[in-house]
Amino acid sequence: MLKVLRRIVQEVSSAQRFEQALQILVSRVREALHTQSCTVFLLDDKKIYVLLATDGLNPSSVGKVRLTFDQGLVGLIGRTRELINIDNAPEHSDFFYVQGLGEERYKAFLGVPIVHNRALLGVLVVQQEEQRCFDETEEAFLVTMAAQLGGVLAHAEATGEISFKENKEQVQADIIFQGIASAPGISVGQAVVAYPFADLEAVPHKKVKNISAEVSQLKKAFKSARNDIQRLKKHMLSVLPEEEQALFDVYLMILDKASLEKEVIKVIQETQQWAQAALQIVIASHVLQFERVDDDYLRERAADLRDLGRRILMHLQHGQLTPILYPEKTILVGEEVSPSALAEVPEGRLVGIVSVKGSSHSHLSILARSLGIPAITGVENLPVNQLEAQTLIVDGAQGKLIVAPSAPVKQSFIALIEQQREFSDSLEPLRDLPAETLDGYSISLWVNTGLMADANLSLTAGAEGIGLYRTEMPFLIRDCFPAEDEQYGLYRQLLTAFSPRPVVMRTLDIGGDKALPYFPIKEDNPFLGWRGIRVTLDHPEIFLIQIRAMLRANRGLNNLRIMLPMISCVAEADHALRLINQAYEKELSEDPNACKPPIGIMIEVPSAIYQAHALAERVEFLSVGSNDLTQYMLAVDRNNPRVANLYDPFQPSVLQALVQVVEAAHQAQKPVSICGEMASDPLAIPLLLAMGFDALSMNSFSIPRIKSVIRHISFRQAKVLLAQVLKMDNAKTIRDYLGQALASLSLKTLASVEVEA
Ligand code: PEP
Ligand code: MG
Repeated sequence: MLKVLRRIVQEVSSAQRFEQALQILVSRVREALHTQSCTVFLLDDKKIYVLLATDGLNPSSVGKVRLTFDQGLVGLIGRTRELINIDNAPEHSDFFYVQGLGEERYKAFLGVPIVHNRALLGVLVVQQEEQRCFDETEEAFLVTMAAQLGGVLAHAEATGEISFKENKEQVQADIIFQGIASAPGISVGQAVVAYPFADLEAVPHKKVKNISAEVSQLKKAFKSARNDIQRLKKHMLSVLPEEEQALFDVYLMILDKASLEKEVIKVIQETQQWAQAALQIVIASHVLQFERVDDDYLRERAADLRDLGRRILMHLQHGQLTPILYPEKTILVGEEVSPSALAEVPEGRLVGIVSVKGSSHSHLSILARSLGIPAITGVENLPVNQLEAQTLIVDGAQGKLIVAPSAPVKQSFIALIEQQREFSDSLEPLRDLPAETLDGYSISLWVNTGLMADANLSLTAGAEGIGLYRTEMPFLIRDCFPAEDEQYGLYRQLLTAFSPRPVVMRTLDIGGDKALPYFPIKEDNPFLGWRGIRVTLDHPEIFLIQIRAMLRANRGLNNLRIMLPMISCVAEADHALRLINQAYEKELSEDPNACKPPIGIMIEVPSAIYQAHALAERVEFLSVGSNDLTQYMLAVDRNNPRVANLYDPFQPSVLQALVQVVEAAHQAQKPVSICGEMASDPLAIPLLLAMGFDALSMNSFSIPRIKSVIRHISFRQAKVLLAQVLKMDNAKTIRDYLGQALASLSLKTLASVEVEA
């Protein structure tokens, strides 16, 4: 059953057109369940069920039969969100007779709702003449099918393919995709699809004018692929057993059969697609055919075909005639945009980044933030290969991507960009003023950084120090662990640039979504697994090299502070402190004047909240990592778009935790800062001030805005707001309340740009 299910979903997902996908679905489900009819109804935006595909009912009813939300058994299934399994449908009180549909002959009826992310999308029905109830296996099959179909439909809807009009090839105007907000700012520009080398699935669709150039390139690529295989075959003669060599003959057969080449040429000519996309279309359709058959040998051929396809593509890409043209305002889009793809865009042209994979903590996002380029990652269902040259709007603060915006939408975003620019300019004079409330209460503003470029920007933004230097960043962009001297060089440069201002260096925090390419960690639950301090305590040699590099870099400067990530109990803190002492002893033997830097602990795991006092007593400072703290308190993966709406640091539980941590730190007479994204959220500022945080650490671009909030509020007002908020039990109420409060504090521009944008 599972095999059949998988195959149907695969076939449906790879259909070229939506209508075709639905037709495949109903036919395959009908065959799999041996019923006489299978029908799919989808709900349109006016809450009308439209019959969109059937195998067994009158085919002319497709697109014509419409049921209101309450009508018939379909309506009942939708309303109750429950399956219905009855042996005699026409006798059911909810049965609704539709003339000409041809269902009166069917007695047995099994229908299930199609739901995705709680939203009802439609109903899937199978019917049979025989009067009988469907058994449990059939029920289970249809429920599973409908659940999978929900995802496929959501994708089609996202790409604009679900429209009750004739087949659409292009994405529709104003389609909004939701991703993870990864670097703030708004930009309007033109998409350039960045795709990995020789990856057939990633090839973007692109229409071309010069058909004969594409055809001749394709012929050359086929010829080169044939030569490759001949060469490989010869090379392997003495190495491989005879039966393995047969593989090359299969490859040659596929290539020599001129039909494959001809087929691709035909697609180029008929669709005006460039050779790479035409190749992708042809290979995909053959692969699908092979995968549909119930024969292991033939299914293996699908893998061979894919392999050959990649090889031909590689030759096509080598012989690519036209270099990539980057428009004035380039928005780089890709399945997984790499930092090197950013580097290829000519200076000054990159205005936005959109990546299907990745998170706000991937290296790409950190790079984007440091360069001040709006970015969105984790954009599920994005039809990357249809986006080439499309106009896009990237709203990096909200994680929203708008494809092919209509003129009024585009205009309103251009106005918003202008408004934000004016607002930033108006903050300029704040640069040299203190972060002080109206009644004279001051707080330190620090920056988070991970790269030197970033750090340089921080200096000009008026930062008082670095509150979080993510040392894993340089580790992420190398191909092996950097040696002590290399690390020393990096740390020394940073400490020197900021001296005498303090620099908080966090020890290596890898694992979770931050995997080093040369130190892979494969786990089912990476966020609950080998992360942060857990990795470095298990590898003292790596930890000690890093601490030694930091201590050496601190010589004569003494502005270093060291911070430990992901501490979940005092034993981990004690162990790390022992190792730091060991490194310090060694440092003393080389430099008798060496100062021991202040050590801090990050509070980002719920258990640490309850031990904050004990932890604070062991070190010189605490710092709250509100990103992880929110994720772990609410049990919401901070990078998973599916549960993104549940991730909210304004949840009362998180706010209570922050209050508790500040109290514990201050009781132990230790300062406490906050270095998660919450510290750069204007709404959170009154609360963080009133809680008593000693410093806020954020990306450099946020400093002027946050300073502006602080300078517009009094500490007394902040205290009142916090007292009110702590009485509330709902995150939305809290956000609304704070939004109104900011607006009434003459921070209207900030409130509207930040809250409503
Ligand atoms: C945090 O968790 O809030 C934090 C600052 O650390 P990171 O985002 O690097 O995990
Ligand atoms: Mg963290």
